[in-house]
Amino acid sequence: MIKTPNPLQATLTCPKCGHGQQSTLPTGACMPFYVCRNCKAMIKAKDGDCCVFCSYGDRPCPLKSS
Ligand SMILES: [Zn+2]
Repeated sequence: MIKTPNPLQATLTCPKCGHGQQSTLPTGACMPFYVCRNCKAMIKAKDGDCCVFCSYGDRPCPLKSS
């Protein structure tokens, strides 16, 4: 298990270019989309997922795990 310095940080991996970016997990609200810093694509959560962290992050959003 890799130690995470900040528990509110997750890595989102862009499905278009594969770029991984650190992003802060939202607390109390879902994040249905984000903009990739590398290719500027707007990444939306997959069908059935409430949040881009659930679809493309290395950890699910806080709402899902609680
Ligand atoms: Zn990208």
